[in-house]
Amino acid sequence: MLQTSILPGKFRHPEKQHRPDNPSGRKPSWIRVKAPTSKAYKETLDIVAAEGLATVCQEAGCPNIGECWQQKHATFMIMGEICTRACAFCNVRTGKPRALDIDEPYKIARAIQKLDLRHAVITSVDRDDLSDGGALHFAHVILAIHNLIPKTSVEILTPDFKGNPAALDVVLPAKPDVFNHNLETVPRLYPTIRPGARYFTSLQLLAEAKHRDPLVFTKSGLMVGLGESKQEILQVMDDLRAARVDFLTIGQYLQPTIKHAKVERYVTPDEFRGYEKWARSKGFLMVSASPLTRSSYHADSDFAQIKANRAQLLAEEV
Ligand code: SF4
Repeated sequence: MLQTSILPGKFRHPEKQHRPDNPSGRKPSWIRVKAPTSKAYKETLDIVAAEGLATVCQEAGCPNIGECWQQKHATFMIMGEICTRACAFCNVRTGKPRALDIDEPYKIARAIQKLDLRHAVITSVDRDDLSDGGALHFAHVILAIHNLIPKTSVEILTPDFKGNPAALDVVLPAKPDVFNHNLETVPRLYPTIRPGARYFTSLQLLAEAKHRDPLVFTKSGLMVGLGESKQEILQVMDDLRAARVDFLTIGQYLQPTIKHAKVERYVTPDEFRGYEKWARSKGFLMVSASPLTRSSYHADSDFAQIKANRAQLLAEEV
């Protein structure tokens, strides 16, 4: 069994060092996952390393890495491994980022080709130091994948671009198949959990993406177990539907280090099933809710499913 190690996070998160230790309770049995030992896992690791790329699977210490990489489903993290924000839940290193690697789009496309992915998921660190928040780099990555492997669909999980809608005018014309931006948590918890972001800025970004490209699938994700109430989650679902978001993911928050936000509660698998039912009843085209759900978990099969769901809905409307 693989247990995410609770390290002090001294080198990755200098801004959190002054905080008192904040240990979470013992993980319940439904959180434990298998250690990554498969041959395919090693091959995935070699391909990622050969191109010198970063993945959120590694940087975030994702518990699903053994399962996902066994299927060669790696999620690439572009624009470096250093984030300009310091969210209380995130294990990505904080600091001053390096200059963009202009060859990265081609390296990413080549790695995806080697991994033989039908569906590629690309995310990034926050790059508040760049005037466009990295929108043009995202567009270049999408175009590089479309050019090299046209059959591969592309899902992007973006930062909030500081609420600058012009970023969408750069990213969306490159034609991602899925535009994902995570709300992460309920608005009441933003000041402590996501202090560099604003709830309505993120919501507006999702609404604008759908407004500008009605055919793009929009997607967002929430973590639970941070102290939110069920009513707050149901309200966020309503907000997301009002923004015409198609796909919602909900997973359990896990504490990366003792300096990060504490897990207030481990939500039970039954409660996740309840959230999934609520979300479906509110009209999402697709919902994934389970303790180990992450934005990119099963993104490949979920993309096939959401396309089928939309086709069915359109057929019923005729
Ligand atoms: S769930 Fe996403 S981040 Fe985690 S290992 Fe799988 S692809 Fe990577």
